[in-house]
Amino acid sequence: MPKKRILHGRIVLKDDIISGYLEVENGKITGISLAKPAISTETEFFDYGSQYIFPGFIDAHVHSFSNPDEGFEATSIGAAVGGVTTFVDMPYDRPHPIDNAAQFNQKAAKIAGHSVVDIALWGTIPKVDGVSEIPGLVKAGAAAFKMSTFETDPFRFPKISDVDIYNSLALLKHSKIITAFHSENNEMIVELIRRLKEADKVYPRAHMMSRPIIVETTAVQRLCEIAKWTGGKLHIVHVSAPETVDIIEAYRQQGVDVTCETCYQYLLLDVHDLERMGPRAKMNPPLREPETVSGLWQRLAAGKINYITSDHVPWPAEAKQKGDQNIFLAPSGLPGIELLVLAMFDAGVATGKLSPQVFAQLLATNVAARFGFKNKGQIVLGKDADFAIIDPSQTTTITDAGLHTRTDAITPLAGKTLAGQVTATWLRGRPIYQRGQVVAPMDYGEFVPGAEFGNQLAPGGDGLVFEA
Ligand SMILES: [Zn+2]
Repeated sequence: MPKKRILHGRIVLKDDIISGYLEVENGKITGISLAKPAISTETEFFDYGSQYIFPGFIDAHVHSFSNPDEGFEATSIGAAVGGVTTFVDMPYDRPHPIDNAAQFNQKAAKIAGHSVVDIALWGTIPKVDGVSEIPGLVKAGAAAFKMSTFETDPFRFPKISDVDIYNSLALLKHSKIITAFHSENNEMIVELIRRLKEADKVYPRAHMMSRPIIVETTAVQRLCEIAKWTGGKLHIVHVSAPETVDIIEAYRQQGVDVTCETCYQYLLLDVHDLERMGPRAKMNPPLREPETVSGLWQRLAAGKINYITSDHVPWPAEAKQKGDQNIFLAPSGLPGIELLVLAMFDAGVATGKLSPQVFAQLLATNVAARFGFKNKGQIVLGKDADFAIIDPSQTTTITDAGLHTRTDAITPLAGKTLAGQVTATWLRGRPIYQRGQVVAPMDYGEFVPGAEFGNQLAPGGDGLVFEA
């Protein structure tokens, strides 16, 4: 008989926080109560006192294979340490992106034996004739599709044409599957970088100057138009400016199915951090002016940003150093999966800007809902018993050397002491991390299939065909 476990603490429910008890059995939540349930010899009891019991957090934006030697194991350990019980891994793997069903199945098979948390996977499409790969990827269990309007790499991370974007959204419109975009205006960025380099402006701030807000707004507006005319499901990743959120909101008002996320770095850091720290604080889109950051917080407080992710991509310090004299030579991205939850807890919950319930929505519930992960994201009866236990009375100091993903990575949060500490993480009914140790085996994490796993895609219209 599998053991029954009972947890006591401040349980964060959808609209309420209760000091109560959770019963879990066979990996599921089987009881939520104010009164203490009977505890027998068959029951294991975990008393978390006045600590918060949150639903297990979900990081929807993680790159485990964007640099060659990270991989699922290290990422999953970072996740468990940081209170993340499920992550959704991006498709831009080296050397080959996840742009067909065979690649997808190979990657999904790598999860078994190599993760302590649950993992869902993004798919993408090739630059040329890519739309035909979508049905196979949906059937194989892709959680969603990621595409880009900016060409990071012509093979691995290509710019997709408006025609293929239109046809993809049209094809997927009757499914539950969203299509998400890295949305930056390719033509503008290429020209701005050329001019800045020509003028020998290669200092850290030049990275922001090469990607002004108009680069994001023009790309997003175009995608919203395509979503509007196809009726497709659009999501915009790593929104960095309030102006972008306002465009998305205006299209929502017209009934367009569009959501967005921002990342912790756009809420916690600004361009002065980029100036001070250089490559360590370089990512795409770039850090922006302090007034832009406060505008993003306003939109977050107004409920116009659906969730928060990390865009985790930890580069070794050595790679980042290439940009010390010329910011354009540094790789973009930063570690995040183990920092996301506490960084936002410190800036949001501890300051009183976000209630614990809203925090749970932004980092778990809304993510599960948008992807259609029906067993995840909320503390309700019948869902997976995934929890993050946070002690608000303790603190956590961030250092480069203390990172669990890549230990040679560097974070712009190094040296900061954050309010709160993740004291335990639970996945499907058992602790996977407690008292500073990972306590589940590497074969515990499972593949979380997309909402249309196994399904044949229903036709979504004729794509880009106009009547003569
Ligand atoms: Zn990303």
